[in-house]
Amino acid sequence: MPGALAVDGTEDVPPAVRCRGVEKAFGAGAARTSALRGVDLDVRRGELLLLVGPSGSGKTTLLSIIAAILEPDTGTCEVLGQDLAGMNERARALFRRWAIGFVFQSFNLLPALTAEENVALPLLIGGKPRGGALARARDALDQVGLGGRSSALPPELSGGQQQRVAIARALVHDPKLVLCDEPTSSLDHASGLTVMELVRNVVRTGERAVVVVTHDPRIFSFGDRIVRMNDGVIVGAGEPDVTGEGH
Ligand code: ADP
Ligand code: MG
Repeated sequence: MPGALAVDGTEDVPPAVRCRGVEKAFGAGAARTSALRGVDLDVRRGELLLLVGPSGSGKTTLLSIIAAILEPDTGTCEVLGQDLAGMNERARALFRRWAIGFVFQSFNLLPALTAEENVALPLLIGGKPRGGALARARDALDQVGLGGRSSALPPELSGGQQQRVAIARALVHDPKLVLCDEPTSSLDHASGLTVMELVRNVVRTGERAVVVVTHDPRIFSFGDRIVRMNDGVIVGAGEPDVTGEGH
């Protein structure tokens, strides 16, 4: 995989993501919950990082902070060379729109729009002309093997196909960071493997960094590296089991 392991920490290229001392709590008084209790995390360019841990361990909260959706209470996050704390709300919104692609557990497709319209949506919202946006969308659908289904509506597609449309939508603006929150949790085993093969072979190309949050052990072997969370802290990191499926 070209570029996959190009940055090994000894080079001076800054990582795609660098979080230091990140803390985040929700609620107040007796209802206060510490979701993150001091997280340090680097994600290298070109890397597919799996962020794993039990439900409630803070994975989605950390992803939301990296995506500039949530602000940490303490700590810093530099994403693609930008310090998120230095951005105002408008800059954060633009950053989310152009720098980052998202894939969610529940696909989040609009059921009344065709596959190509769903994929084109981030470009249309960003003000791109419709013809060019739809052409880009069809290219992105080709990349995920759905070139023949551009005019299908999401309810006409299987769960695995809908998630592939969502992957095309996440890639259509060529983001340098793609964040996936439990992308296989709604899928059967075979569709989950297909989706992870796409994430490994298509999403993670060139200098693009990918973070996949999951608690699905069936897909652990797809990562270049696994970081484990528990109760708001990182409890370990390492290489996945190289004897497993996916290598
Ligand atoms: P994970 O994605 O690993 O399941 P989350 O990041 O969603 O974990 O949640 C971490 C903790 O923070 C949990 O205890 C959860 O209940 C709490 N939490 C997350 N988001 C909110 C919120 N918006 N309001 C209140 N508590 C929240
Ligand atoms: Mg979550």
